[in-house]
Amino acid sequence: MSDLLPYYKETLSRELVQKGIKNFKLSDNGDNSSEEVNFIIYSPVIKNRVKLNRDFSRFKNLKAVLSLYAGIEDFIGNKTLKCPLIKMIDKTGLTNSMVEWCLAHTLRLHLGLDRHILGQDGIWRHKVKPPIARDRSIGVLGLGELGRPVSLFLKKIGFKIFGWSRTRKNIKGIICLHGTNGLKEVLQNSEILILLLPLTKDTKFILNNHSLSLLPRRSQIINAGRGELIEDTSLIKNLRSGHILNATLDVFQQEPLPREHPYWILPNVTVTPHIAADTPVESSSKVLASNIKDLIEGKLPNGVVDLNKGY
Ligand code: NAP
Repeated sequence: MSDLLPYYKETLSRELVQKGIKNFKLSDNGDNSSEEVNFIIYSPVIKNRVKLNRDFSRFKNLKAVLSLYAGIEDFIGNKTLKCPLIKMIDKTGLTNSMVEWCLAHTLRLHLGLDRHILGQDGIWRHKVKPPIARDRSIGVLGLGELGRPVSLFLKKIGFKIFGWSRTRKNIKGIICLHGTNGLKEVLQNSEILILLLPLTKDTKFILNNHSLSLLPRRSQIINAGRGELIEDTSLIKNLRSGHILNATLDVFQQEPLPREHPYWILPNVTVTPHIAADTPVESSSKVLASNIKDLIEGKLPNGVVDLNKGY
């Protein structure tokens, strides 16, 4: 259930064989309600601007669904899914991409690089000195597969990191907080705020007028989670007033972001087209093959999603 099979076919076949799995057939004919299907590899498919809603109940011998992506909100409320859902955890590919993207944009905002890249006007502004990481506090909402390594890399450079998760965490060098009071403390200390939360009923519009007002004046936001984490009208109001200095957004409530959307026009918004962390074919094929091997052997691999929790 993915239109990416042509890109995966060769590499995934090779990785499956390397794992000792030989008797298999890869097919993208999802309409065949086949008793032969044991595993479904999933990525969202959009037809006529609408994401296809999948019916898994037709596959009587389905053992697991393996998502090519880390975000799994498409499955929430899908009552036809009765087997384990495994999200993509690809440390060498997807995770590294996210770390690189977040690092790049955090440093860009921290050092005010746009001023020099976009504003070459012949004026020698030597008195505006770049700050150093030690003097900057960063908040990271979400300390999971992606938020945790992003926090640790930023910490390594010297930033002071406030992290927030649903459950209590203890990560060396990171100020780990949770719960409503924890969120307040993270926001109040975030000169740069990075969103790496999944979209759930509890995280939807977590950045709204109230939470944005808790951020320090002239703070900056990076959203690499999901568009619906942010109430757009509130963010736009805060960007226009200058309370929020910049928003760098990779994910949007509607994708592709419509041409007429204010985010394209606001001078203090950077739009990137949901590219923060792609799933590379090579590394994710290894993960898929290893997960399928585990499942065949009756073991649950890393990344089993708790659909009740919503991520
Ligand atoms: P993950 O491993 O499931 O981690 C999610 C983190 O969010 C966990 O730390 C979790 O807390 C925390 N969390 C969830 N609900 C919360 C709540 N109500 N309050 C506080 N914290 C909460 O997810 P991941 O693999 O890091 O991925 C995060 C998201 O990134 C994905 O869901 C996806 O939407 C997005 N993503 C975007 C791209 C892109 O290209 N832009 C690529 C991949 C993924 P606990 O640790 O306590 O459970």
